[in-house]
Amino acid sequence: MIPSPMTLTEKVLARASGKTHVQPGDNVWVNVDVLMTHDVCGPGTIGVFKREFGKDAKVWDRNRVVIIPDHYIFTADSMSNRNVDILRDFVREQELPYFYDVIDDPSGHWKFDASQGQLQRQYGSRYTGVCHTTLPWKGHTRPGEVLFGTDSHTCMAGAFNQFATGIGNTDAGFILGTGKLLIKVPESMRFYLEGNLPPGVMAKDVILHVIGEIGFDGATYRAMQWEGPGVHGMSMDDRMTIANMAIEAGGKNGIFPCDQKTLDYVRERVEENGTKSAFEPAEIDRDQSFVYDRVFDLSKLEPTVACHPDPGNRKTAKELEHVTLDRAYIGSCTGGKTSDFLAFAEVVRGKTVKIDTFGVPATTKVVQELKDTLWGGQSVWQILESAGVRLTENASCAACLGGPVDTFGRLNKPMKCISATNRNFPGRMGNKESEVYLASPYTVAASALTGHITDPRTFIS
Ligand code: SF4
Repeated sequence: MIPSPMTLTEKVLARASGKTHVQPGDNVWVNVDVLMTHDVCGPGTIGVFKREFGKDAKVWDRNRVVIIPDHYIFTADSMSNRNVDILRDFVREQELPYFYDVIDDPSGHWKFDASQGQLQRQYGSRYTGVCHTTLPWKGHTRPGEVLFGTDSHTCMAGAFNQFATGIGNTDAGFILGTGKLLIKVPESMRFYLEGNLPPGVMAKDVILHVIGEIGFDGATYRAMQWEGPGVHGMSMDDRMTIANMAIEAGGKNGIFPCDQKTLDYVRERVEENGTKSAFEPAEIDRDQSFVYDRVFDLSKLEPTVACHPDPGNRKTAKELEHVTLDRAYIGSCTGGKTSDFLAFAEVVRGKTVKIDTFGVPATTKVVQELKDTLWGGQSVWQILESAGVRLTENASCAACLGGPVDTFGRLNKPMKCISATNRNFPGRMGNKESEVYLASPYTVAASALTGHITDPRTFIS
């Protein structure tokens, strides 16, 4: 008998639950491949685990738990510093191999030294930075697998053909004890991409355009499946940017097909880091069934902005040239990758920004790559600094979600900020009266140069 076709998400969930077939609405127990948690939700997750499974309980599989402090790290807030210590104590007790600690001493205590300022490195040799960018870099994302994380942007790993989604502390505590979770199979929406992105237009514009099309709740509890020749032309970084923002449309997950680029990327990183190398990609079936199916021509897209107060409030950059700005910000899992900073640097190179501009690399590897990449004898890091960008070596989430009041780049008073991050609900980057405009690194860079929202094609030939 020919098996009924399934979408990519259904296929991954069927396999993870030991079934030959699942359909939207089914409730299935899935075996978890990787559970990730961080400094904000980790302590709560550990609390649930200890309460429900006993204070001497052991996690279900120490090789499948990844702990990444990244959110409130470079702050003098003592409770935030203490959260990282709680993670360290748990890692030591459970002998977990994958903990990307901010300090090297496994019995030490983390304390941010504010007197050294925010710009210079204050981390040890194992620290990595933002969790969603760390996971692929360190070889924890593999096609066909199931990844849960205590963070809504866990969906970013869908770029690697896996089912990846955010969960709360209670579910995460349950997974720590059992390695399983009961979930409802989501309906799938297909976004079929054709053509190539024109100059000045980036993957960020694609996802902002799509969210504007369907609304910030347009994919609620649905899988956003990306397909088509336009997808295969994209880099893995581009796919990550798009998958990352599935949750900004309410999506349960975003998922991409596995192609040679995926395989090359994943194989290189699992080998480099000695993580699990075996995996089974989910292949695309013919005659899949979707609740929404639309073709998007990439060549028709323009630089796009999501206006205050939500990620679905779409306009083109050109329509917003009257909006004056107080600040520009480049960083986060979505917009702080090396490729994002290179695009930004392309625009600001040899020029000077007109408004306060903050740069926060997503990971410590991004910091290194920006320092190692030379353009005309100057590092990209130097080029950005010469343009007036305030760059920190302390890779982290920083002001992407506001954080304690001393967080680098935080909006501490009402202001208008254009940002390469992923979320702009009121108060997201600090002050509740602020307005955040989400855009691509190109558009953020062009706007930083002029002081108002600017179509980057003004600067890109
Ligand atoms: S960078 Fe922003 S979106 Fe990404 S994990 Fe951190 S807070 Fe969340």
